[in-house]
Amino acid sequence: MMIKVKTREEIELMRESALVVSKTLGMLAKEVKPGVTTLYLDTLAEEFIRSQDAIPGFLGLYDFPNTLCMSPNAQVVHGIPNKKPLVEGDIISIDCGAIKNGFYGDHAYTFEVGEVAEETKKLLQVTKESLYEGIRQFRAGNRVGDVGFAIQNYTEKRGYGVVRELVGHGLGREMHEDPEMPNYGRKGRGKKFIEGMVVAIEPMINLGTHRINQLSDGWTILTKDGKPSAHFEHDVAIVNGKPELLSTFKYVYEALGIESDEEDEFRY
Ligand code: MG
Ligand code: MG
Repeated sequence: MMIKVKTREEIELMRESALVVSKTLGMLAKEVKPGVTTLYLDTLAEEFIRSQDAIPGFLGLYDFPNTLCMSPNAQVVHGIPNKKPLVEGDIISIDCGAIKNGFYGDHAYTFEVGEVAEETKKLLQVTKESLYEGIRQFRAGNRVGDVGFAIQNYTEKRGYGVVRELVGHGLGREMHEDPEMPNYGRKGRGKKFIEGMVVAIEPMINLGTHRINQLSDGWTILTKDGKPSAHFEHDVAIVNGKPELLSTFKYVYEALGIESDEEDEFRY
Protein backbone atom coordinates (compact mmCIF):
# COMPACT_ATOMS: atom_id res chain seq x y z
CA MET A 1 0.00 0.00 0.00
CA MET A 2 1.10 3.54 -0.70
CA ILE A 3 0.18 6.81 0.93
CA LYS A 4 -1.70 8.97 -1.57
CA VAL A 5 -0.78 12.57 -0.85
CA LYS A 6 -3.21 15.25 -2.03
CA THR A 7 -2.63 18.47 -3.94
CA ARG A 8 -3.93 21.77 -2.55
CA GLU A 9 -6.80 21.54 -5.03
CA GLU A 10 -7.70 18.05 -3.86
CA ILE A 11 -7.54 19.15 -0.23
CA GLU A 12 -10.01 21.95 -1.01
CA LEU A 13 -12.35 19.38 -2.59
CA MET A 14 -11.96 17.18 0.49
CA ARG A 15 -12.88 20.16 2.67
CA GLU A 16 -16.21 20.26 0.80
CA SER A 17 -16.74 16.54 1.41
CA ALA A 18 -15.96 16.94 5.11
CA LEU A 19 -18.26 19.97 5.29
CA VAL A 20 -21.21 17.93 4.03
CA VAL A 21 -20.67 15.53 6.94
CA SER A 22 -20.14 18.37 9.43
CA LYS A 23 -23.44 19.93 8.37
CA THR A 24 -25.17 16.54 8.57
CA LEU A 25 -23.99 16.13 12.17
CA GLY A 26 -25.18 19.67 12.91
CA MET A 27 -28.62 18.86 11.48
CA LEU A 28 -28.75 15.66 13.57
CA ALA A 29 -27.69 17.50 16.74
CA LYS A 30 -31.09 19.23 16.76
CA GLU A 31 -32.92 15.90 16.35
CA VAL A 32 -31.16 13.73 18.95
CA LYS A 33 -33.55 13.49 21.92
CA PRO A 34 -35.42 10.90 23.98
CA GLY A 35 -38.04 9.00 21.94
CA VAL A 36 -36.30 9.36 18.56
CA THR A 37 -35.14 6.19 16.78
CA THR A 38 -31.73 5.83 15.21
CA LEU A 39 -33.42 4.61 12.03
CA TYR A 40 -35.38 7.89 11.78
CA LEU A 41 -32.14 9.85 12.20
CA ASP A 42 -30.57 7.69 9.51
CA THR A 43 -33.36 8.60 7.07
CA LEU A 44 -32.91 12.31 7.83
CA ALA A 45 -29.17 12.03 7.24
CA GLU A 46 -29.54 10.27 3.90
CA GLU A 47 -32.00 12.90 2.64
CA PHE A 48 -29.78 15.72 3.86
CA ILE A 49 -26.60 14.32 2.28
CA ARG A 50 -28.34 13.85 -1.07
CA SER A 51 -29.67 17.45 -0.85
CA GLN A 52 -26.02 18.61 -0.71
CA ASP A 53 -25.19 16.97 -4.07
CA ALA A 54 -23.37 14.24 -2.21
CA ILE A 55 -23.79 10.50 -1.71
CA PRO A 56 -23.95 8.63 1.62
CA GLY A 57 -20.43 7.24 2.02
CA PHE A 58 -21.18 4.22 4.21
CA LEU A 59 -24.34 2.95 2.51
CA GLY A 60 -23.32 -0.25 0.72
CA LEU A 61 -19.64 0.15 1.64
CA TYR A 62 -18.47 -3.36 2.59
CA ASP A 63 -22.26 -4.06 2.40
CA PHE A 64 -23.09 -1.77 5.35
CA PRO A 65 -26.91 -1.36 5.21
CA ASN A 66 -27.36 2.31 6.22
CA THR A 67 -26.13 5.90 5.95
CA LEU A 68 -25.03 6.28 9.58
CA CYS A 69 -23.21 4.07 12.03
CA MET A 70 -25.29 4.53 15.19
CA SER A 71 -23.64 3.21 18.34
CA PRO A 72 -25.44 3.88 21.65
CA ASN A 73 -23.94 3.48 25.13
CA ALA A 74 -21.74 0.34 25.29
CA GLN A 75 -21.56 0.12 21.49
CA VAL A 76 -18.19 1.40 20.32
CA VAL A 77 -18.71 1.79 16.57
CA HIS A 78 -20.45 0.24 13.53
CA GLY A 79 -23.88 -0.02 15.20
CA ILE A 80 -26.75 -0.45 12.74
CA PRO A 81 -29.68 2.01 12.95
CA ASN A 82 -32.88 0.44 14.31
CA LYS A 83 -36.37 1.22 15.60
CA LYS A 84 -35.47 1.29 19.30
CA PRO A 85 -36.06 4.81 20.66
CA LEU A 86 -33.26 6.67 22.43
CA VAL A 87 -33.94 7.30 26.10
CA GLU A 88 -32.91 10.01 28.55
CA GLY A 89 -29.37 9.36 29.79
CA ASP A 90 -28.20 7.50 26.66
CA ILE A 91 -25.20 8.53 24.66
CA ILE A 92 -25.19 7.95 20.91
CA SER A 93 -22.05 7.90 18.76
CA ILE A 94 -22.95 8.96 15.25
CA ASP A 95 -20.39 8.23 12.54
CA CYS A 96 -21.20 9.64 9.10
CA GLY A 97 -19.56 9.43 5.69
CA ALA A 98 -20.29 11.27 2.45
CA ILE A 99 -18.80 11.33 -1.02
CA LYS A 100 -18.67 14.62 -2.89
CA ASN A 101 -16.59 15.32 -6.01
CA GLY A 102 -15.28 11.77 -5.72
CA PHE A 103 -13.77 12.29 -2.25
CA TYR A 104 -14.87 10.96 1.10
CA GLY A 105 -15.63 12.88 4.25
CA ASP A 106 -15.75 10.75 7.43
CA HIS A 107 -16.56 12.32 10.74
CA ALA A 108 -18.11 11.34 14.08
CA TYR A 109 -19.50 12.85 17.29
CA THR A 110 -20.91 11.32 20.46
CA PHE A 111 -24.10 13.06 21.57
CA GLU A 112 -25.77 13.15 24.97
CA VAL A 113 -29.47 12.26 25.02
CA GLY A 114 -30.99 14.55 27.62
CA GLU A 115 -29.12 14.53 30.91
CA VAL A 116 -26.38 11.88 31.18
CA ALA A 117 -24.37 10.59 34.15
CA GLU A 118 -21.45 12.74 35.27
CA GLU A 119 -18.87 9.97 34.63
CA THR A 120 -20.22 9.59 31.08
CA LYS A 121 -20.00 13.34 30.42
CA LYS A 122 -16.38 13.21 31.56
CA LEU A 123 -15.68 10.28 29.19
CA LEU A 124 -17.03 12.29 26.25
CA GLN A 125 -15.01 15.35 27.21
CA VAL A 126 -11.74 13.45 27.61
CA THR A 127 -12.27 11.49 24.38
CA LYS A 128 -12.78 14.72 22.44
CA GLU A 129 -9.76 16.32 24.11
CA SER A 130 -7.68 13.26 23.17
CA LEU A 131 -8.71 13.74 19.54
CA TYR A 132 -7.10 17.19 19.59
CA GLU A 133 -4.06 15.82 21.44
CA GLY A 134 -3.66 13.41 18.52
CA ILE A 135 -4.30 16.03 15.82
CA ARG A 136 -1.56 18.27 17.31
CA GLN A 137 0.96 15.51 16.52
CA PHE A 138 -0.17 15.12 12.90
CA ARG A 139 2.52 17.31 11.35
CA ALA A 140 5.25 16.86 8.75
CA GLY A 141 8.20 14.92 10.15
CA ASN A 142 6.24 13.27 12.97
CA ARG A 143 5.17 9.64 12.74
CA VAL A 144 2.04 7.53 13.13
CA GLY A 145 3.16 6.46 16.61
CA ASP A 146 3.32 10.07 17.80
CA VAL A 147 -0.43 10.52 17.23
CA GLY A 148 -1.26 7.15 18.78
CA PHE A 149 0.96 7.80 21.79
CA ALA A 150 -0.63 11.22 22.41
CA ILE A 151 -4.16 9.77 22.41
CA GLN A 152 -3.27 6.71 24.48
CA ASN A 153 -1.25 8.66 27.02
CA TYR A 154 -3.95 11.29 27.50
CA THR A 155 -6.79 8.80 27.99
CA GLU A 156 -5.07 5.97 29.89
CA LYS A 157 -3.67 8.47 32.42
CA ARG A 158 -7.27 9.31 33.20
CA GLY A 159 -8.18 5.64 33.64
CA TYR A 160 -9.92 4.92 30.33
CA GLY A 161 -9.56 2.01 27.89
CA VAL A 162 -8.25 2.58 24.36
CA VAL A 163 -9.83 0.29 21.77
CA ARG A 164 -7.07 -1.49 19.84
CA GLU A 165 -8.90 -3.38 17.11
CA LEU A 166 -10.28 -0.33 15.28
CA VAL A 167 -8.15 2.53 14.04
CA GLY A 168 -8.16 5.81 12.12
CA HIS A 169 -6.97 5.87 8.52
CA GLY A 170 -5.87 7.79 5.47
CA LEU A 171 -8.79 9.33 3.57
CA GLY A 172 -9.32 10.35 -0.04
CA ARG A 173 -10.97 8.81 -3.07
CA GLU A 174 -11.12 5.69 -0.90
CA MET A 175 -12.71 5.58 2.52
CA HIS A 176 -9.77 3.67 3.97
CA GLU A 177 -6.37 4.60 2.59
CA ASP A 178 -2.90 4.18 4.02
CA PRO A 179 -1.71 4.71 6.68
CA GLU A 180 -3.65 3.07 9.49
CA MET A 181 -3.80 5.47 12.45
CA PRO A 182 -4.04 3.52 15.73
CA ASN A 183 -5.11 5.35 18.88
CA TYR A 184 -2.18 3.82 20.73
CA GLY A 185 1.51 3.63 19.91
CA ARG A 186 5.07 4.60 20.63
CA LYS A 187 6.64 7.97 19.98
CA GLY A 188 8.81 8.13 16.88
CA ARG A 189 7.54 4.83 15.45
CA GLY A 190 5.64 4.07 12.26
CA LYS A 191 5.24 5.85 8.95
CA LYS A 192 6.43 9.44 8.64
CA PHE A 193 3.95 12.22 7.92
CA ILE A 194 4.49 14.42 4.87
CA GLU A 195 2.88 17.48 3.28
CA GLY A 196 -0.48 16.75 1.62
CA MET A 197 -1.45 13.74 3.71
CA VAL A 198 -5.10 13.57 4.73
CA VAL A 199 -6.26 11.28 7.53
CA ALA A 200 -9.26 10.58 9.73
CA ILE A 201 -8.21 10.58 13.39
CA GLU A 202 -10.81 8.86 15.56
CA PRO A 203 -10.22 7.85 19.17
CA MET A 204 -12.63 5.17 20.43
CA ILE A 205 -12.34 5.33 24.20
CA ASN A 206 -14.07 3.15 26.81
CA LEU A 207 -15.07 4.06 30.36
CA GLY A 208 -13.86 0.63 31.50
CA THR A 209 -11.83 -2.08 29.81
CA HIS A 210 -10.39 -1.55 26.33
CA ARG A 211 -11.58 -5.04 25.41
CA ILE A 212 -14.42 -5.44 22.94
CA ASN A 213 -16.84 -7.97 21.47
CA GLN A 214 -18.63 -8.07 18.14
CA LEU A 215 -22.34 -8.82 17.83
CA SER A 216 -23.54 -11.66 15.61
CA ASP A 217 -24.84 -9.06 13.11
CA GLY A 218 -21.24 -8.97 11.88
CA TRP A 219 -20.99 -5.22 12.46
CA THR A 220 -21.70 -3.90 15.95
CA ILE A 221 -18.65 -3.54 18.20
CA LEU A 222 -19.36 -3.19 21.92
CA THR A 223 -17.40 -3.03 25.14
CA LYS A 224 -16.73 -6.34 26.84
CA ASP A 225 -17.78 -5.00 30.26
CA GLY A 226 -20.92 -3.24 29.04
CA LYS A 227 -19.67 0.20 30.12
CA PRO A 228 -20.07 3.22 27.80
CA SER A 229 -17.75 4.06 24.92
CA ALA A 230 -17.18 7.38 23.11
CA HIS A 231 -16.05 8.17 19.55
CA PHE A 232 -15.01 11.50 18.03
CA GLU A 233 -13.51 11.82 14.55
CA HIS A 234 -12.07 14.66 12.46
CA ASP A 235 -10.62 14.79 8.94
CA VAL A 236 -7.24 16.51 8.94
CA ALA A 237 -4.75 17.53 6.22
CA ILE A 238 -1.10 18.52 6.51
CA VAL A 239 -0.80 22.00 4.98
CA ASN A 240 2.47 23.96 5.30
CA GLY A 241 3.68 21.14 7.51
CA LYS A 242 0.92 21.63 10.09
CA PRO A 243 -2.43 19.97 10.86
CA GLU A 244 -5.39 21.70 9.25
CA LEU A 245 -8.94 20.61 10.08
CA LEU A 246 -11.17 19.87 7.10
CA SER A 247 -14.18 18.85 9.21
CA THR A 248 -15.72 21.01 11.93
CA PHE A 249 -17.98 20.56 14.95
CA LYS A 250 -19.13 24.17 14.54
CA TYR A 251 -22.59 23.17 13.23
CA VAL A 252 -23.08 20.76 16.14
CA TYR A 253 -22.08 23.48 18.59
CA GLU A 254 -24.39 26.02 16.95
CA ALA A 255 -27.27 23.56 17.28
CA LEU A 256 -26.47 22.78 20.92
CA GLY A 257 -25.63 26.35 21.95
CA ILE A 258 -22.05 25.43 22.87
CA GLU A 259 -19.29 28.09 22.73
CA SER A 260 -15.93 26.61 21.73
CA ASP A 261 -12.60 27.78 20.34
CA GLU A 262 -11.11 24.26 20.33
CA GLU A 263 -10.67 24.22 16.54
CA ASP A 264 -9.01 27.64 16.20
CA GLU A 265 -5.43 26.38 16.40
CA PHE A 266 -6.02 24.05 13.44
CA ARG A 267 -7.22 26.67 10.94
CA TYR A 268 -5.01 28.99 8.95
MG1 MG B 1 -16.05 7.52 10.70
MG1 MG C 1 -13.04 6.80 9.95
